[in-house]
Formats: sequence, structure tokens, C-alpha cells
Amino acid sequence: MTLEAKNKDLLYLTRKLLSFNTINPPGCEHDCAKYVGSVLENGGFKVNYYQFAPGRTSLVARIKGKNNTPPLCLAGHLDTVPLGAVPWSKDPLNGEIDGDKIYGRGSSDMKGGISAIITAALGLSDKIKDGSAGLTLVIVAGEETGCQGSSHLAGLGDVLGKAGAVVVGEPTSNYPFIGNKATLWIEAVTTGVAAHGSTPELGINAIHKAAEVVTKLRNFDFDVPAHPLLGKATLNIGKISGGLNFNSVPDKTSIGIDIRTIPGLTNSEILKKLQSHLGRDVQLKRVMDVAEMISDPKDDWIQQVFRIMERFLKKRLRPRALKGFTDASILTPAFGNPPTIILGPGEPAMAHRTDEFCYISKIEDAVDAYMEIIKTWCNL
Ligand SMILES: [Zn+2]
Repeated sequence: MTLEAKNKDLLYLTRKLLSFNTINPPGCEHDCAKYVGSVLENGGFKVNYYQFAPGRTSLVARIKGKNNTPPLCLAGHLDTVPLGAVPWSKDPLNGEIDGDKIYGRGSSDMKGGISAIITAALGLSDKIKDGSAGLTLVIVAGEETGCQGSSHLAGLGDVLGKAGAVVVGEPTSNYPFIGNKATLWIEAVTTGVAAHGSTPELGINAIHKAAEVVTKLRNFDFDVPAHPLLGKATLNIGKISGGLNFNSVPDKTSIGIDIRTIPGLTNSEILKKLQSHLGRDVQLKRVMDVAEMISDPKDDWIQQVFRIMERFLKKRLRPRALKGFTDASILTPAFGNPPTIILGPGEPAMAHRTDEFCYISKIEDAVDAYMEIIKTWCNL
């Protein structure tokens, strides 16, 4: 395949993926998943589809190798975040190209990455059959709202099978990250007694209670030392709502708390600690709970990937981890905790932004890097 031909196919595929509206909510990944599945089937993959809700389709595509070495898994998500309130200057669903940039919702996070994964896999699919290990692609729906797609697959029993190593193509500018923090989303609910606004003494004001919760959260101490790669645990109040109107005493308030944690304190321990900090009058509901993922920087395969990526990035690399969650938090334990790298062509700074773009040259580099990683694992 000539370089231009490869580039043309890669751009076609990236633009095609961008043209599917997979904005989550509501998601509607089904058509995009079927398209990805058909492309992979044409390349010799065996594809299975799984829906965690109507229209919310994930897929697992495999090519078996020749011996019992567990396969390499490449993973990514099809859903994208909403467009935001600010109007875009580019069509978010058309894959407009300007120089080295391809624009669109999901170009960086992470349809550029999916496009590179598919292209690399198809570029080697014929050889993998004769190689020593197979390849599994896990392309999921519903990552952005809390890894529902990967959690669904992990909960289905033996749908994922085994993997000896995992690459998740989230946007990292092609830097190989070896971990991500745990995430715990909690809804804190305060309740009161409704009354007319002109007689507040007859009610109990849930917003006053919520204000106390917010103040107490400011002083919450995780009391766990910073992790060398993941840093400190953090807490953010991202959302607050409550009250009916100006002239009623509110009887319910909801506070959305986003906690990013590190080894040393489990999410369940944090929930208990938070409950005793806030008192029994506040109801705490677990909305999302995913563990951290952290690979051993000394693992042979991790070091191999670092050597490959040092050639591409032309610099010495040191182990780093992401602050945000990824599907690795779900997939890696489901696969039995094989070494895992988060590596993709998207720009982390572009994820979830207005006029999101991805550098085409980085998608091309990711194809070459993934091919190198596949060749090394599958012994091609
Ligand atoms: Zn993502």
C-alpha cells in the first residue's frame, strides 16, 4: 500500500466514524458499531455485538493466533460528549480537514484513536492468523458517562476472554500512560419539610442543609499520601440542584460530587469516611465507582512499548498516569490485570472542547505505533 493510499483510507475511515452522531447522552452507538464491525469482518475478524440498552451497542472482534499465548487487546469507545453551549465554527459531524487538522466531535476523544486501531489491525490481520498470538478489539458504547459499555461486557461472563496485554486508545498525543486514577461519583441528598415561603418557620429548609454539606466538603481530608504517579486524591462539587420556586421552603437538594482517588484508600472506605464526615442526615448514593488502573513500569511488555514509543516520539519517556478514568479501569481487571497502556493520537487538551480536532499526522503515527506493538506481541 502506498503512503498516499494508506492516508486516503485512514482519512476516509476517520471521517466516516465522525459522521455517526454518537453524542452521549443519548449515545445511539448502534449504527457506528455495526459499521466498525462490518469493516473488521471484511478484514477477517470474527465480530460479536452486545447491547447494554436499546441502541447502545459495543463489539468484540477477534482474530485467533496459532498458539496459546493470550491475545493482545486494543480498546476504545464510540460515544462522544455533547457539543456544548458555544456554537462550533466547524461542522462537528463532517470531519472537515484543514492542513494537518481533522475537526469533529470525537476526533481526539476518540474516533481518531478508533480509526488508527482499526487501520493497524486490518493492516496485519492476514499475518496475525499465522502469528503466535491473536488480537482482540473491544470497541464499546457508553464510556463517557461512566464506562457502562465496558462494565456491561465485563459483567457478561466470558465475553471478553483473556488478554495478555491491553492498549486503550484514549487521547494522549501518542504518549504511553501506564495508569489512571479511580473515580467515585456520589450524589448527596438533603431532605427537609416543604412550607410556604412566607412562613419558613413551618418548614425545614433542605438548601440550608445542603449549604452545610458544601462547607463541610471543603474541609474533607482524604488522609492518604500522594501516589508517585497518580498524585493526590481530589474532590470536586460539580452539580447542585434543589428547590421548587421562590416562594416555597425546599424539601430536597441534590449535590453531585466527583472524587478521583488513588491506592491507599478504596472507594468504599471513602464513602464510609464521607458519611461520617457529613453525618447521617445526608443520604449518599454511589452513582459511579471505578477502580484505579496502574501497571508495573518494570513489566517487560511495558518497557518494550516504551522503547517503541521512544523511537516515535524521539525522546526519553518516563512512566506517567492519567488523572481521568478510562475503560482500562474495567477491562484490565476483567482480563485478569494484564499490563496496560493508554496511548492514542488525540490531543488531551482537545477532548470535550468546542471545535475539537485531532492532528492527522498523529493518527498516522498511531497506526504505525499500534502496528509495531501488534507485531511485537503477536510475533509477526
Ligand atoms: Zn475518551
